[in-house]
Amino acid sequence: MNWRDRFNRFMYGRYGQDDLSRFLLIVALVLLIVNLLFRLPGSGILVLLILGYNYFRMFSRNVPARYAENQKYLQMKGRVLDFFRGRKNRAEDLKENHIYRCPKCSQKIRIPRGKGMVEITCPKCRTKFRKRS
Ligand SMILES: [Zn+2]
Repeated sequence: MNWRDRFNRFMYGRYGQDDLSRFLLIVALVLLIVNLLFRLPGSGILVLLILGYNYFRMFSRNVPARYAENQKYLQMKGRVLDFFRGRKNRAEDLKENHIYRCPKCSQKIRIPRGKGMVEITCPKCRTKFRKRS
């Protein structure tokens, strides 16, 4: 029996790799580089803990628990990506629009750029004021 067969036999019924394990491996690698560059106390142990946890997950036979962990990771990752996407959209919005405040009630009003001087009517208190768009 060659090594690949032996390995496959060993891994049979075990969880193996997923998105979370790949992410943890990258985190461990980054920590390792940071540790080499800055010699942060404790980061070496952190790398070992992350790798240990990673191997524990790979060789685990409790597949549903590991699957649930991965789902949780994917959920968090989605939330983080949404957050950054939201920020990007706000930045693009500011490129195309001015945000003015009503001088009376300080309601925020979005005005499209590039239309010269415009008369703005506050949607809340009906105050009229002029601004460059
Ligand atoms: Zn107003």
